[in-house]
Amino acid sequence: MSSNSGLILRGGEFLLRATAPDDIFTPEQRTDEHRMIGDTVRDFVTNEVLPVLDRLESKDWALSRELVKRGAALGIMGADVAEEYGGLALDKVSSVVISEQISKSASFAATFGAHANLVILPLSLFGTDAQKRQYLPRLLSGELIGGYCLTEPGSGSDALGAKTRATKQADGSYLLSGEKMWITNGGFADVFIVFAKVDGEQFTAFIVERAFGGLTSGNEEHKMGLHGSSTTPILLQDVRVPPENVLGEVGKGHKVAFNVLNFARYKLGAMCSGGAQGAIGESAKYAAQRKQFGQPIASFGAIKHKLGEMVVRAFAVESLIYRTAGMIDTRVSATPHEAADQSVVLQAVEEYAVEASIAKVAGSEMMNFVLDENIQVHGGNGYVRDYPAEREFRDSRVNRIFEGTNEINRLLIPGMLARRAVKGDIGLIAAAEALQDELLGPAALPSGDDAPLADERRAVESFKKASLMVLGLAMQTYREKLGEQQEVLLHLADMIIDTYAAESALLRASAAAAAARSGASLQADATRVFVNDAAMRIEASAKQALAAMLDGDTLRTMVAALKRLFRQMPINTAALRRTLADAAVARGAYPF
Ligand SMILES: Cc1cc2nc3c(=O)[nH]c(=O)nc-3n(C[C@H](O)[C@H](O)[C@H](O)COP(=O)(O)OP(=O)(O)OC[C@H]3O[C@@H](n4cnc5c(N)ncnc54)[C@H](O)[C@@H]3O)c2cc1C
Repeated sequence: MSSNSGLILRGGEFLLRATAPDDIFTPEQRTDEHRMIGDTVRDFVTNEVLPVLDRLESKDWALSRELVKRGAALGIMGADVAEEYGGLALDKVSSVVISEQISKSASFAATFGAHANLVILPLSLFGTDAQKRQYLPRLLSGELIGGYCLTEPGSGSDALGAKTRATKQADGSYLLSGEKMWITNGGFADVFIVFAKVDGEQFTAFIVERAFGGLTSGNEEHKMGLHGSSTTPILLQDVRVPPENVLGEVGKGHKVAFNVLNFARYKLGAMCSGGAQGAIGESAKYAAQRKQFGQPIASFGAIKHKLGEMVVRAFAVESLIYRTAGMIDTRVSATPHEAADQSVVLQAVEEYAVEASIAKVAGSEMMNFVLDENIQVHGGNGYVRDYPAEREFRDSRVNRIFEGTNEINRLLIPGMLARRAVKGDIGLIAAAEALQDELLGPAALPSGDDAPLADERRAVESFKKASLMVLGLAMQTYREKLGEQQEVLLHLADMIIDTYAAESALLRASAAAAAARSGASLQADATRVFVNDAAMRIEASAKQALAAMLDGDTLRTMVAALKRLFRQMPINTAALRRTLADAAVARGAYPF
């Protein structure tokens, strides 16, 4: 694959093209302003939220409101909002930085996320000038709290199957009736984005104030985690909504809902990334001070393996999240537009919807892994409430469920790629055909590149080829019925997620090596472990997918072609993980 230096990749195009290390954004490129924003949010969470977590967990919603106001005073609610409406209009890397830090208190992160990402953001993206002037200043100051009402008892993943009705009245207003479920901030929010079907058909978003009357909160849910965030049903009984409170257009509610999800997904990935990094610090410190058999448990290979693997996976996710935010920012700044024109940002985020879904799935699963291992490193102390590990583990589980379950996001990843291919947005079909010829023809000589990370570069190229080969075959085999083959799609998603993560880690480590950064060698170690293990996972997923769609000689031929892509020698990951674990223990923190 030729290098792509200087080009801005389309969404999903990473599978077809090679990217130069200089062309991605890495955490090492964060500016002083990014760092300042991160420090401000970290100090806010450490000094003002974490000390009052018990009160939040006892459902002191007046305190939640106060904390939203405090966060608002620091400006963190308006990161995505244009300056003329009181926002800060920050880049998306800043949103990642904010999300990483806010996540250290998961309950408050949920309150913040619903308010800022699910209410302020759609108002800012789809609101009319009058709507923005009416609602944004008071939401940005925390005077009003927002909630987002999409899910219903009968429609979760199938959000467009909503039953809530909006009946148009003679005076142009709408009467909304129905029941919404699992609404974050439901117990105390003042303004809701509510999705309802106009006359039972046209799915539409509305801005609904509690003060309109007829909107009531049900009882607080008894959740596994996030005890410090309010989650209730919202009941709507003939809520009269004026016509000027339609958000976007009648019948176009799906545009609001799906675009909000694209934003929410990479931010959720960033929240998971930040939360996992914090937990790695907890594990590293605990392992250094806890002694068994006369020595710190950090000296045991079993614990080093855990710490090393936690670092490896967190590094890969962090790399792909910054890369994704950087691509959005690059696309926005490459498109001439007025500062207040949100449509450019909207299009840029939509462009990278595949990458946003990857960030959501990879982030939430990496975090669940890290927090599970964090408990294990803490032993019995991980299972009791004296340490944060227990709460963090419970709090994190929901990340695989909301913002589109991980199954739905997995199905979307190859599904969106296939759609883009058919539309001709990206040259995937031609690339897959050329690849089939290449893999079924005589084997090419291995390249003589023996520079650092050359094996990993070759491996990542093979990951892309394997993903393309299986995706191309699946499209050929099932055509318009591909969506019905969920098992194949899930295997494909796993391959594509690992490929994007591996390449993002590799490019970041390569950039660090080229710039002779101090952490470059450790970054290379993490990359080598990730790529080594991803090769095994990708090959296994590819075989499963091939066997699900082919048989007999065709299957044998394709498995033989696949084998040509996975000839890498295994490396000594035990030694590399030890190095990474020792670095985490020495710093008492995530080492990057
Ligand atoms: C703590 C919490 C806070 C929440 N906050 C909000 C909020 O503020 N606003 C809001 O609107 N919603 C909110 N939700 C709802 C959340 O978005 C939904 O729970 C989620 O979308 C999943 O819907 P569901 O629970 O109905 O599960 P279902 O859709 O019933 O899914 C059940 C299982 O079936 C799978 N599944 C479903 N459809 C398919 C399919 N087509 N193919 C394959 N597998 C499928 C799912 O992946 C899942 O594993 C919240 C939920 C929780 C738990």
